[in-house]
Amino acid sequence: MPRPIIAKIYPQAVAHNITVAQTISGAKAWATIKANAYGHGIERIFSGLQGAQGLAMLDFDEARRVRELGWEKPILMLEGCFSPDDYRSAQSLDLTVVIHHAAQIDWLIAANLHKNLNVYLKMNTGMNRVGFMPSEYGAAFERLNALANVGNITLMTHFANADLSDGLTEAMERFNSVTAPILIQHPQLERSCSNSAAVLAHSSAHFDWVRPGIMIYGSSPFANKSAHECGLLPAMALQSEIIGVQHIVAGEAVGYGSRFVADKPMTIGVVACGYADGYPRHAPDGTPVIVGGVRTRLIGRVSMDMLMVDLTDISGVGIGSTVELWGKNVPIDDVAQASGTIGYELMCALAQRVPVVVET
Ligand SMILES: *Cc1c(COP(=O)(O)O)cnc(C)c1O
Repeated sequence: MPRPIIAKIYPQAVAHNITVAQTISGAKAWATIKANAYGHGIERIFSGLQGAQGLAMLDFDEARRVRELGWEKPILMLEGCFSPDDYRSAQSLDLTVVIHHAAQIDWLIAANLHKNLNVYLKMNTGMNRVGFMPSEYGAAFERLNALANVGNITLMTHFANADLSDGLTEAMERFNSVTAPILIQHPQLERSCSNSAAVLAHSSAHFDWVRPGIMIYGSSPFANKSAHECGLLPAMALQSEIIGVQHIVAGEAVGYGSRFVADKPMTIGVVACGYADGYPRHAPDGTPVIVGGVRTRLIGRVSMDMLMVDLTDISGVGIGSTVELWGKNVPIDDVAQASGTIGYELMCALAQRVPVVVET
């Protein structure tokens, strides 16, 4: 028999969360599925993506997979082409590509495409990761606009601080002031700026297309507002079982490094889940976990294959009791926050060895 750990994936939750993004923004949605759909598996959640107007990612192999699954609507490559050759893939797979530096325009020209390629022109509005500086943006636009094999150009940026209530002021000022003269000349152009946090908190940035990622998996982009409060449903649950029980007296320690020391007689449950499954090793004592439907706490250091929980005040649980590490009752964001990380990282880190079932 395999170890009792299992991850459950809920495509219908993804469908619901995409609808939330569309309803709040009133915009078309690129469902962002980079990193194999934030660890959920593109194929596993594919049925839940059907309501999106487009899919956004950055790996050309993932784009190919999505076309093979039968996706006929637009696909946006968030980092654009990595080499001149990628433009041929973009053409044959009918992709929309981001252009964020001048060499990508050079490659596009050199590729001599026979079809019109739709592009997203990205402005660096203060994150200073990728994108044209506001001072270079107008010229990059003119260069692209003069090319015969460029189709629609969409004006785009990505925010560094959309999770903060006052985090967009400067970025939006830069984006709006640089795009205003372009839009006067070309009023039909579309714009796309919002990730999940901007979808949920900044209506001034919604424009024509939004790019929700984390929210479609049912995790909150905010430190102080839960996914539940945002109306989102979790798309992943991590579950396991109790595989061992220890009764200890006051003064006994639990786990490597004896981090946790009992101050009274206690019952300790051993769970078949460790950091090699993707559970964060830095989870502290007290991290929430549910055993047999009752909320309790992690105690002691997380090991590679096991972790320990407090069963002292829970009656009727023992070997074989079900454990929810995260999911409908323990928000993944609570585990992440306790462990000094974010829901994004935990989803993406779900280990290969964990069996996954799709719940339809
Ligand atoms: C990842 C990404 C998104 C989605 O961000 P979330 O915070 O997950 O909503 C949107 N736009 C770009 C450019 C991205 O790289």
